Amino acid sequence: MLEKKKFLLLRRVCQGLILAAFALGSWLGAPLASGTLASSVWFGTVPLSDPFVLLQSLAAGHPLARGALWGGFAVLAFYALVGGRAFCGWVCPVNLVTDAAQGLRRALGWRKARMLRIDKRLRYAVLALALLGSAAGGVVLWEAVNPINLIMRALVFGLWLGGLTAALGIFLFDFLALSNGWCGHVCPVGVFYGAVGRHAVVRVAAVRRDACNDCGDCFAYCPEPQVISPALRAIDGHGVGIDAIDCLRCGRCIDVCEQRVFEFSVAGRAAARFPADSG
Ligand code: SF4
Ligand code: SF4
Repeated sequence: MLEKKKFLLLRRVCQGLILAAFALGSWLGAPLASGTLASSVWFGTVPLSDPFVLLQSLAAGHPLARGALWGGFAVLAFYALVGGRAFCGWVCPVNLVTDAAQGLRRALGWRKARMLRIDKRLRYAVLALALLGSAAGGVVLWEAVNPINLIMRALVFGLWLGGLTAALGIFLFDFLALSNGWCGHVCPVGVFYGAVGRHAVVRVAAVRRDACNDCGDCFAYCPEPQVISPALRAIDGHGVGIDAIDCLRCGRCIDVCEQRVFEFSVAGRAAARFPADSG
């Protein structure tokens, strides 16, 4: 049973520890993390910055402190290696909300039901608007409405109204209107990180794709199911690695596949294996 939720549990531990570090740093003055995911200092010395926030700051004409720049480079380098949307799956607090909405949809058999049809390219338009608006207004525009920021401010500064309103709004949007509606169609942060990790080394690969029995479980649990088919079905001679920028490296496909088709792998080293190799 736990085997089928291994990566889900690991992600929850990772998300929980990160959020707890911020909350404890703020509430108890513990020397863990101070600030928010937009800009933080870990253990009193290590700065980490969200490069998308830095980009908006630059567009707004704000001077950037050296520590913030180094923190931004460190975060960029990390996600360029491991895959940008790993941020969405392993760190972002909004993922807890969207996973809950998707889980409830699955439980009710609403997986494909939708009230809205939104082009996934809307995310790019929101990203461009955030940067152009920051440049025009001289403010870091997206951060004023970014639900990640609102949830972090609730946790760290006790501004619960904004955080809870954002979380509830996204839950209802994803649950009632469109599965993966917020992260997959609107949020510019995910698409920014996805682009950062375009050539990431760490990938999920359908290494035993010949063993697939078409049960559909991976598609049912994956938040971005369109990323699976090329690697799983060898479409146009596609290799086994899932290379679409939208893969969150969440590992749910690995967890739920009874045939053990998927594995985490290092890009360029993953090769197809035969079913007999799967033991
Ligand atoms: S869960 Fe595994 S067996 Fe089922 S469709 Fe996906 S890859 Fe195939
Ligand atoms: S392909 Fe697998 S790892 Fe990637 S987003 Fe889907 S379930 Fe997660």
